[in-house]
Amino acid sequence: MKQSELIIQTNVCSTCGERYFDDDVMQNLEKIINELRTLTTEMSIVNYAEKVA
Ligand SMILES: [Zn+2]
Repeated sequence: MKQSELIIQTNVCSTCGERYFDDDVMQNLEKIINELRTLTTEMSIVNYAEKVA
């Protein structure tokens, strides 16, 4: 995963100026979170294997 993919773009409401994510960004966020979760799990397994060895 490239670092630039982590940059999150927000839309700004023209009425109140509040920032919000559009659907594409929300889907990307879910994808990134899932990848991080997988990565964390893999790292935990590696750390466990190193401690046991
Ligand atoms: Zn608004």
